[in-house]
Amino acid sequence: MKIRNRLNPSDPCFSFEFFPPRTDEGEANLLKALEDLATLQPGFVSVTEGAGGSTRAKTVELVLRIKQEAGIEAMAHLTCGGHSPAELRTVLERLSAAKVDNILVLRGDPPKGQTVFEPAPGGFRYASEMVRFIREEDFNFCLGGACYPEGHVETPSRDDDLRHLKAKVDAGLDFVVTQLFFDNAFYFDFVERARRAGINVPIVPGIMPITNYEQIQRFTRLCGATVPMRLALQLERVKDNPEAMAQLGVAHATVQCMELLSRGVPGIHFYTLNKSPATRMIVSALRARS
Ligand code: FAD
Repeated sequence: MKIRNRLNPSDPCFSFEFFPPRTDEGEANLLKALEDLATLQPGFVSVTEGAGGSTRAKTVELVLRIKQEAGIEAMAHLTCGGHSPAELRTVLERLSAAKVDNILVLRGDPPKGQTVFEPAPGGFRYASEMVRFIREEDFNFCLGGACYPEGHVETPSRDDDLRHLKAKVDAGLDFVVTQLFFDNAFYFDFVERARRAGINVPIVPGIMPITNYEQIQRFTRLCGATVPMRLALQLERVKDNPEAMAQLGVAHATVQCMELLSRGVPGIHFYTLNKSPATRMIVSALRARS
């Protein structure tokens, strides 16, 4: 199933993102989360690739397992990091043979310890180059990409970032998924600017339920997402109370999702961090109201 056919404001699609675990314990947690969230019948799930392309083999294995064993549509994240076009072609052939229809094409984060992204020798510098490469090869994937309502952290200006996004979409993307945000105004404003710039593909909001104070501080520092003042104060107040923190995170994300759905988003992509309870509570609450 091609994801572009599931993105529909009159029947929005919920999707869940996972990362390949590094340890046996991590693997057990992932399987539990997957099993739990599968009962919510997601439109699709996606599996990230570690910074610098570090988990490609695991990412592909996990996508194939989810698709073949759990029967859930699974999308592979493939980054430009650390891999040559020839290696990419081999991976694409494998995914295509296994009937994986969807790929999220990314430049990727720089590997640990590096602050600047460096392409592999002969590799791609920007996600748009990889999109073009895949489109020029004889494949029939549905391709997604990343976008940034508050602007990508490296970009000198949001207008530049939008121009680059337009070029990436024009290279052959079918949809885009946003970076996490905590204030819907950023999303609505971004969609309006994107439409004005001639970007017409579905723009799927990415939502991360807050469950941990330190973690969310680290993520927002890395990706540049703004935590609205009121939410920041509330988080500060409950930072030593994990249960209250989780409740606050679920409540905030649920309200965000309700507004997004009421204004016609084509789907919502949840950054689950391989944990199910928060996402389960949010999706159950949203379904109960529809
Ligand atoms: P690009 O679209 O290539 O953009 C990167 C930067 O270059 C931007 O600032 C852009 O404005 C600029 N740019 C683009 N084209 C040009 C040009 N022609 N000239 C000059 N500047 C240009 N990271 C991972 O490592 N693994 C993952 O699995 C992963 N999954 C993600 C999923 C989602 C939904 C999102 C939103 C992000 C994800 N990321 C992941 C993070 C992402 O890889 C980083 O944000 C990365 O820094 C940028 O990736 P990109 O694909 O958006 O890059």
